[in-house]
Amino acid sequence: MATVNTRDVIVIGGGIFGLSCAWSCLKRGLSVTVLEGNYIGSGASGGVMGAMSPNVPERWNDKKQFQLDALLSAAEHWAEVEEVSGKSTGYGRIGRLIPVMDEHGLGHAQKRAVDASTFWQGKATWTIREAEDYAPWIDPDAAPLGVVHENLSARIFPLAACLALARAIEAKGGEILEGWRVTEIGDHEVSGVSGTLKAGAVILSAGAESFPFLEPFLGPDAGFGVKGQAALLTGADMASAPTIFANHTYIIPHADGKVAVGSTTENTWDDPRSTDERLNEVIIRARAISPPLRDARVALRWANLRPRGKKPDPMLGRVPGAEGLYLATGGFKIGIGISHAVGEALAGMVAGETPYLPEKFFVRLPKPKA
Ligand SMILES: Cc1cc2nc3c(=O)[nH]c(=O)nc-3n(C[C@H](O)[C@H](O)[C@H](O)COP(=O)(O)OP(=O)(O)OC[C@H]3O[C@@H](n4cnc5c(N)ncnc54)[C@H](O)[C@@H]3O)c2cc1C
Repeated sequence: MATVNTRDVIVIGGGIFGLSCAWSCLKRGLSVTVLEGNYIGSGASGGVMGAMSPNVPERWNDKKQFQLDALLSAAEHWAEVEEVSGKSTGYGRIGRLIPVMDEHGLGHAQKRAVDASTFWQGKATWTIREAEDYAPWIDPDAAPLGVVHENLSARIFPLAACLALARAIEAKGGEILEGWRVTEIGDHEVSGVSGTLKAGAVILSAGAESFPFLEPFLGPDAGFGVKGQAALLTGADMASAPTIFANHTYIIPHADGKVAVGSTTENTWDDPRSTDERLNEVIIRARAISPPLRDARVALRWANLRPRGKKPDPMLGRVPGAEGLYLATGGFKIGIGISHAVGEALAGMVAGETPYLPEKFFVRLPKPKA
């Protein structure tokens, strides 16, 4: 039998975007139900990586400023979530090391040090140091011309962050229904096998599974899933190490002593959740960069789909042509770092405010083909 209820906001998807939207809506006094088709963190957000890193500080634009503001406000946000939920998220602003490989890279690094001092407004630094200073964590052969050390980057354990947010949402009076898969979205309502629910606004944040729902409004190619594989290693002594980014590989020392390494970027795949030799190659690269990983044991291999729009920008805001439907997806490779700022923007829109967003982040109709 169909159930019909009314609340201010329904959020589709219990990943980091959906939960962040729900949290910010609740903070505005709105009543919220999150519908999660599987379980909290069962999509891209339930992974092991969790780098919260800036784009390089050059050719500054409103997107980089948005990301900077998000990274700078993340500590306060996650501290509040931890306090309300009583659960750890593994957040820490531990910085990032980037080995310098050649003269070309050194020139870029030096220019970025100057740009960082301008654009990061004294709130974070980008310095170039001797590789030997970081010898316990980076093989000097992997950093022949030194190491960039920036202290803006942070890390979080994504699944822990989702679980803490979910608990905080419930503590604030929000409702979370797991195993509630939405099959249809109508005007101010959603339907699934469990019935039909109504709300003043519906926020679609179903990750890579958002795109089929958008077809009637944005056409068939609004976005797609990009597969990524990552691993979690145990037994490496890297507790006081920053994150490391080298040779297309992230190495993320987590708060519990485990170290995540990743990721692959795959536009085609058969099974979004399988891991294979491409992940082995990532692990080999990580071990070449970082000596403590050479004897570390692989504890977990993990894969999922990053939601990506046609452009790699987030897709946010009111869906054109749809009644009461908002979109929060397209986090692609930076979704975790900007999630709380995305939640704030969406909640602001739903509440009738006009929050600031970079122009390119607004979801819009595709340009007609010439
Ligand atoms: C290997 C890998 C490494 C990454 N590393 C980083 C990183 O270091 N830093 C970073 O910032 N980002 C990283 N990302 C990207 C980041 O994980 C994503 O941008 C982010 O998690 C997307 O969150 P989301 O909430 O939009 O989607 P998801 O986390 O996928 O959440 C969508 C949720 O919606 C649910 N759902 C789907 N369809 C329905 C339906 N019909 N009804 C109800 N529920 C539904 C799903 O079950 C899922 O739980 C990485 C991604 C991968 C795969």
